Amino acid sequence: MRVLVTGGAGFIGSHYVHHVLSTTADHVTVLDALTYAGSVENLRPDLSSDRLTFVKGNILDSDLVDSLMATHDAVVHFAAESHVDRSLLAGSHFLTVNVLGTECLLEAARRHQVEKFVHVSTDEVYGPLLTGSAAEDALLRPTVPYAASKAASDLVALSAHATHGVPVCVTRSSNNYGPRQHPEKVIPRFVTRLLKGERVGLHGRGEHIRNWVHVCDNVAGIDLVLRRGTPGEVYNLGGGTDLTSQQLTQHILRACGADWDLVDYIPDRRSNDRRYAMTWGKAARLGYRPVREFEDGLTQTVNWYRAATGRWASPHRNTGTPCPAY
Ligand code: NAD
Repeated sequence: MRVLVTGGAGFIGSHYVHHVLSTTADHVTVLDALTYAGSVENLRPDLSSDRLTFVKGNILDSDLVDSLMATHDAVVHFAAESHVDRSLLAGSHFLTVNVLGTECLLEAARRHQVEKFVHVSTDEVYGPLLTGSAAEDALLRPTVPYAASKAASDLVALSAHATHGVPVCVTRSSNNYGPRQHPEKVIPRFVTRLLKGERVGLHGRGEHIRNWVHVCDNVAGIDLVLRRGTPGEVYNLGGGTDLTSQQLTQHILRACGADWDLVDYIPDRRSNDRRYAMTWGKAARLGYRPVREFEDGLTQTVNWYRAATGRWASPHRNTGTPCPAY
């Protein structure tokens, strides 16, 4: 099979590319615009593979997308603007890339009758849940522009299935962690600061609850959905670890050999969802099982950042726009 992977030079996409190349005989083409968030370095482990082709380009470039789609059997669509804090300042850019970019891919997928289109999304589309857990048919109640743009793109993708029969599956995962994540996200931000002896800021009182899935578990789940998922269906992909942000900070401090006195409590943003939670029984029936222990995965992640200081020394290398979270 020839798989077109959008956003494959980003954090999760690059792990997905490695998963496919190391577990199948498939050919992979990565389509990535190399925004501030993407780097060919993320594909380093696989760049020498003759089954990997890299194309620098934008998912909004309909001619390029059309020509690539013509020679591929399936699409796994990761490319997106992915950082909540940036979306607070750039809502229309998030809508353009995440919604219209997805639509551009879907139109080409329809024209060329691809066999499967996996649209990669997030548990943030369900919005906050104080109790209980969201199943795939739960109401979508996103509260921030990033999550709203992902919810909109999920609906656009599912409507392409309902209206035109495009064989779309949607995956919604919880917070991913692991090597190669951009240091604007909370775990790498804390790790890279603590390893330099710098202070970290914990929002509010550290009570926000998130579910954590190791990126390798998520990409294994996404691949199961590609190969076994039923078109028109949504599959949640969670991990086994729910933590308050205070508990997460404690884990990170321990893994970095740092103390609580490097932590400052900082004002929370207005919409910082209190708790996300979801079930993933549908994916489990396909064979999905998150197997990485959080402590082990975090140690592996910290070790990667310890060894790769050159990678995260200048996180804004491709952009003049610092993220407000810094
Ligand atoms: P990322 O920001 O690390 O990577 C995004 C990639 O997309 C980058 O390589 C970037 O260059 C590329 N890209 C951005 N705009 C593009 C465009 N217009 N055309 C082509 N390429 C473009 O993101 P990530 O954390 O790897 O997330 C990947 C996907 O998974 C996203 O759709 C995100 O919404 C979703 N997701 C992420 C998480 C998480 O915890 N990181 C959780 C759930 C879902």
